[in-house]
Amino acid sequence: MSLLFAYRRYRLPLRVAVRTSHGVWREREGVILRLQDERGRVGFGEAAPIPWFGTESPDEIEGACRGLGERVDLAALAAVPGQLGCLRHALAAAQDELRANAEEAPWTSPDGVTALTVAALLPAGRAALEAVGPRADAGFRVFKWKVGVADVADELVLLDDLCAALPAGAKLRLDANGGWTRPQAERWLERCAERPVDYVEQPCFADATQGATQRKRCEDVLRGLAEDYPTPIALDESLVGDGDLGRWLENGWSGVFVIKPALLADVAGALERLAQARAAVVFSSALETAVGARDALRAAFEWRGERRALGFGVYPLFKDGRFDGPAAAPFVYRDDVARLDAEAAWNALT
Ligand code: MG
Repeated sequence: MSLLFAYRRYRLPLRVAVRTSHGVWREREGVILRLQDERGRVGFGEAAPIPWFGTESPDEIEGACRGLGERVDLAALAAVPGQLGCLRHALAAAQDELRANAEEAPWTSPDGVTALTVAALLPAGRAALEAVGPRADAGFRVFKWKVGVADVADELVLLDDLCAALPAGAKLRLDANGGWTRPQAERWLERCAERPVDYVEQPCFADATQGATQRKRCEDVLRGLAEDYPTPIALDESLVGDGDLGRWLENGWSGVFVIKPALLADVAGALERLAQARAAVVFSSALETAVGARDALRAAFEWRGERRALGFGVYPLFKDGRFDGPAAAPFVYRDDVARLDAEAAWNALT
């Protein structure tokens, strides 16, 4: 089967810069691609790499897309190298959509779930204190706060203020984006033990450039922290693609898996393995456009394990709202996900 292939690279300024322990993110780069069959049916996919996670870069994705040419067959798509996991994800998503269009089988979640809860994203630092009230009033009960961006002692004072400002029964997720040393993580986890902290995400992280020994050491620290403290630890940066996920599953990780479907070449396969392991899964945005958000949210609706609040409280994200996924609200509705229009985002890139 021969398909028409086209791609458009994007560089989209964010409405508000995102501050993490990796620095400040002001624009998002990625590639949206389009497959069309001989009957004119189309499918879209998005490659939204996060280079500090150790994914491929936008340049590498663009280079591989150029190499594919304007006409592709299934063998050429299958031959895209495994290290281009985000591109493989995008191609698989586009093929899935093409298949669904060919079968005239519009997407619907399998067990009739019509809405999923969403965690509210709080800004880093003191600004979180002002943000929590309005979001609680809007109905959010799970909140996520980026930590590891300032001095530990200062942030621990803010933690207490923030916990005091939470509505009754609410949970707080902390995301250090790998920014702590072990002693810093221990100070935090001691403090979290008696507070309504849902989990602490990625206390430490060693990326590929730091070498295998450092990475092993960091993974041992994560396992040690998970054993020594009652607050669950969540992996996010540690899960770059299908290989890392398999490794942590084989090692029996008992904490939370933060799954960014955009970073998985084979989302269905990964979710199957997670379900078999009865893993605790939180679906999360990779700050992708509506194209990738549609696929990630569909995967979240299709998940059959325990449902936890989604890490999708990120929209409106882009200065150009045509690229946004569903606006942050305490729930995301299946019908709104079904309506997300990949073609509109594609057309907006001309
Ligand atoms: Mg994270």
